Amino acid sequence: MNNPLLNNFNTKYNTAPFSEINNTHFKPAFDASILSAKKEIDEICSNTEKPTFQNTIEELEFSGMKLKRVSSVFFNLNSAETNDEIQKIAQEVSPMLSEFANDIRLNRELFDRVKIIFDKKEKLNLSTEQNTLLTNQYKMFVRNGANLKEADKVKLRKLDKKLSKLSLKFGENILAETNAFEYLITDKKDLKGLPEGAVEAAKMSASEKGKKGWLISLDYPSYVPFMTYSENRNLREKLSNAFGARGFQNNKNDNQKTVLEIVNLRHERANLLGYKSHADFVLEERMAENPGRVKNFLEELLVKAKPAAVRELKEIEKLAAKDAIIKMQKWDGAFYSEKLKKKLFDFDDEQLKPYFKLENVIDGVFTIANKLYDLNFKEVFDIDTYHKDVKTFIVTQKDGELIAVFYADFFPRKGKRNGAWMTSYKDQWKVQDNNSRPHISIVCNFTKPTETKPSLLTFNEVTTLFHEFGHALHGMLANTIYPSISGTNVYWDFVELPSQIFENWCFEKDALALFARHFETGEIIPMDLVEKIKDSANFLEGIATLRQLSFGMLDMAWHGKDPENILDVKAFENDAFDDTQLFPDVAENCMSTAFSHIFQGGYSSGYYSYKWAEVLDADAFEAFKENGIFDQETASKFKENILSKGGTEKPMALYKKFRGKEPNSDALLKRAGLLK
Ligand SMILES: [Zn+2]
Repeated sequence: MNNPLLNNFNTKYNTAPFSEINNTHFKPAFDASILSAKKEIDEICSNTEKPTFQNTIEELEFSGMKLKRVSSVFFNLNSAETNDEIQKIAQEVSPMLSEFANDIRLNRELFDRVKIIFDKKEKLNLSTEQNTLLTNQYKMFVRNGANLKEADKVKLRKLDKKLSKLSLKFGENILAETNAFEYLITDKKDLKGLPEGAVEAAKMSASEKGKKGWLISLDYPSYVPFMTYSENRNLREKLSNAFGARGFQNNKNDNQKTVLEIVNLRHERANLLGYKSHADFVLEERMAENPGRVKNFLEELLVKAKPAAVRELKEIEKLAAKDAIIKMQKWDGAFYSEKLKKKLFDFDDEQLKPYFKLENVIDGVFTIANKLYDLNFKEVFDIDTYHKDVKTFIVTQKDGELIAVFYADFFPRKGKRNGAWMTSYKDQWKVQDNNSRPHISIVCNFTKPTETKPSLLTFNEVTTLFHEFGHALHGMLANTIYPSISGTNVYWDFVELPSQIFENWCFEKDALALFARHFETGEIIPMDLVEKIKDSANFLEGIATLRQLSFGMLDMAWHGKDPENILDVKAFENDAFDDTQLFPDVAENCMSTAFSHIFQGGYSSGYYSYKWAEVLDADAFEAFKENGIFDQETASKFKENILSKGGTEKPMALYKKFRGKEPNSDALLKRAGLLK
């Protein structure tokens, strides 16, 4: 069979032969590569020799390599260049892949072999990386119940089934509640304050439903601008109350019981697997390691951020008082924050954009990567791509050694999903003397060039590019033996460190001087503009921090202990919110019943990660500030201990090797202007 997905990619750098691939190749490629992956697993299990690290752990690690490459090509295309046909194939192959993953997880013979090795690991003289790989594999089985008695295994499967049904139900209820509400504005004066774009969108929503006027809904793109800009306080209150009541109206979409069922089942599941709580179970595989550390982290930040939040609130209150508002309510917060921002910062994106021509920013990113890590980027035109807009680069080190293939796909088009992300088409690994280098890609949706104007980025887009490029460096500089712990394959409260730290260079004068030049005059961006960017980035950071902390604390409250005695969702929530609320409570509103992050998505016991990652990046960047933002020695320490190490060691151990100490929040608080 002549299927380009199955022919080992005989291209110059072993890159995917995109132009030869068409949609009819995918399904047969999945079928064939799943089959051969299964065969590889069977061979490990039926090996008559005694299990060893090599014949079991390493064989398992390097099994299914073809399937991984087929999957990466396919699912990356499904994000960046999809169509109906690809989406249909995705629906077909996704269950096949989860079934295959389950077959491995529940494979008794395979687990027995892994366990034999794990149980005597102290005697095996393994390297740190080998030890991590072994532990990861063992945990993968055990965290799915491999060590349980048969009856308990059955119980676990039942719990999992119930839980996945409940989180679906939670999401469906929220969707139904969101869709059930709409407000039609018929009087033009009720639009006062709204930006043109929001008015246009509201008009379109109305006409789509055959109505005259302007329709406001609880969907974020409609709700958020309304709460930020509408000058009609009564309407803001109405919208805010409707938003806050989702899942809490004692109707058929009510989520109170769903929440209680979910937390109790999660607790039961954790206990069954031998953990004290759901948070203990989740955090075992996080840099934070345990609930105690997360709680301390949140509480410590709260003590430091709260005074700033209270101070900021006073500023906003002053402004609101001019409108005769004596007691601010939660529907006033966003509105007066925005007003104050306008008053304090009289600049907008249009002023900045001329300094951020896309080509200049890319050059800047490459130059900074060169100064820090000695990397050279050369654009090449002989690597196959999936779209003519995709640029390709060969990344080498000073001595000419190949480091990575780098794809960059910048502009929006039909078939590309929103947002920006980094991904890989091939991981990095080592087999014997061969260090097989990775193929890394970043995908964005930046402002397109026009016939008369080049692509000029907003500052937000500039930081996005730096962010994704930071992830890309993590992938490109990977230097480990095993692919499953290479590059960005790290715990998820650690994965944003390389990306967020790289954003810091966008705010530094010496870095901006390298690339932020006016696209017509060549003038370097004026420093007072840079200062304004910095100040506005930190604007009302105390209030924003308090809000993030309140969500993190609520998440930990739900998942950190036995929930058996919780009967009243709202009362429990108010208790958890006790220290973090700036506005009076609304009795008819509840956050938990619409907290999709933790009850529908995968963020349970993980909401703290947002702040955690900020603390990490600020603390790590402080090392560069202490020694110079282009200091080679600091950069090399960061590369040797973080960027090249992937998940080969516990993140805290890696971090301490880089920084000489555990991270603390001082640098973040300083950067955010909260230490006054
Ligand atoms: Zn990221």
